[in-house]
Amino acid sequence: MTAQSHPAASAAWTAGSPAETPGLPALWDPLVREFLAERELLDQVVERFATPVHLIFPQVFERNLGRLTGVLDASGVPYRICYAHKVNRSAAFVRTAAARGISVDVASPGELESARRAGFGPERIEVTGPKGERFLRELVGTGVTVSIDNQWELETLARLAAPAAPVPVLLRISGFPGSQVSRFGIPVDQVEHAFAVLAGHRDRLIFRGPAFHLDTGDIAERIRAAETCFALLERAYDRDLLPAVLNIGGGLRQVFTADAGRFDDYVHRLREGLAGRGPRMSWGTNTFGYQVDGAAVRGIPVFHKYANTVAAETMLAELLAAPLDGHGGRGLARVAADNLLELWLEPGKALTDHAGITLARVEFVKTAADGSVLVHLDLSRDTVTPADQEVMADPLLLAGSLPAPPDDPVPVFLAGRLCLERDLVAAHTVWLPWRPRPGDLIVFPNTAGYHMDLSAAPAAMHTPAQKVAIDVRDGRFRATPDAGYRPATPDTGSASPEVP
Ligand SMILES: *Cc1c(COP(=O)(O)O)cnc(C)c1O
Repeated sequence: MTAQSHPAASAAWTAGSPAETPGLPALWDPLVREFLAERELLDQVVERFATPVHLIFPQVFERNLGRLTGVLDASGVPYRICYAHKVNRSAAFVRTAAARGISVDVASPGELESARRAGFGPERIEVTGPKGERFLRELVGTGVTVSIDNQWELETLARLAAPAAPVPVLLRISGFPGSQVSRFGIPVDQVEHAFAVLAGHRDRLIFRGPAFHLDTGDIAERIRAAETCFALLERAYDRDLLPAVLNIGGGLRQVFTADAGRFDDYVHRLREGLAGRGPRMSWGTNTFGYQVDGAAVRGIPVFHKYANTVAAETMLAELLAAPLDGHGGRGLARVAADNLLELWLEPGKALTDHAGITLARVEFVKTAADGSVLVHLDLSRDTVTPADQEVMADPLLLAGSLPAPPDDPVPVFLAGRLCLERDLVAAHTVWLPWRPRPGDLIVFPNTAGYHMDLSAAPAAMHTPAQKVAIDVRDGRFRATPDAGYRPATPDTGSASPEVP
């Protein structure tokens, strides 16, 4: 079963983004492509679960995991991968992570409960993020590792913990040289005080090591953070603390675009439109984070991450090999291994990259006063958009009950539910291969990483999109409600051989 054996696949593909128009061609995973080409199953899923619907591909998650572990194994450093649960509420993902033996990073009592239900024991659970006293009380005595956000949290835990069950802790550090100020973590210059608390409560707190998580894709910034942590480790050893972990967080990037050249060309035209030098390609007063000052368009747009072309495993390999000046030019992985440290990672979006798509139905199409064509979908912006970003990857238009008409590309904006003027699903122009008809389907690519859940709000009381896990077993696609999904184990019949 390959993409080539389904002629419909390639036809649908070119239709996603007409070649002769400005476009943002999306990368589609081969497994997702094959699924979409099996129209019968797709129609059954839509019939059974209605639209909008999120489709989860746990086997793509497993493949992403395999790529990261491949790089880590090759580097020789002992490591632990903690799946950052907050990237998606899906039970299928967290169960897959549990079944594959990795650890989990949870940031709330709800995520902790979800991880436990998925089968994670305390030794494989790390709790991150700022925590109130109530949550800290819940954690004490359970054996989970607590990544400390601040001095108050550390002192509170020292007070609550009992010598019979000391709490394993990491210290989340922030305020690294050259990094932006962070609302999370203990600033580097306040760490001495935290070490004093740890040294004074050895019977109650077990210091496992420093942690950081940076909200950027920058390798150099991570290297500076790691070097700072190595220096802090020396100071911890001086106090007879025995840390054995360096946690370098998440932030490995996703790849959304299939064509960086066309992406750049689109963004160039978008800016020309904002500057008044070309056709306008944005709805209303939207500037996507650019500062528009007459003919000058400056700044970094909110959607810059959609331009990334460096895969997570490539970024990880680069990071692990990057030479540390203070350590004779040895790479990060080598220095960690030489210091007998276990390297911890907390990938979220890198594990869910391409492991989900979202389907919506066209309800109607209308023309606005300025002639813009608005395609109204049965979902809201927050169902496919993380926070304040604009999603810059073209969706796929599939014919509904009517056959697909001949190609006649049309520029549209995608509208949907919710009620504010700015609640467009796509406020930038999207060229679709034909003017959509009610009942046609729109497929949003690569939505598993934050797009599905980060912003989704029940504000207008629409029924939330269901999640359905799609996997391949015995060579066939299978659809299971996400909550009921169980990963295949070698005993129950492995799905892996059929997965490309
Ligand atoms: C959100 C988060 C992550 C995951 O980040 P990704 O960019 O999705 O890899 C990891 N660690 C912490 C502490 C986080 O808050």
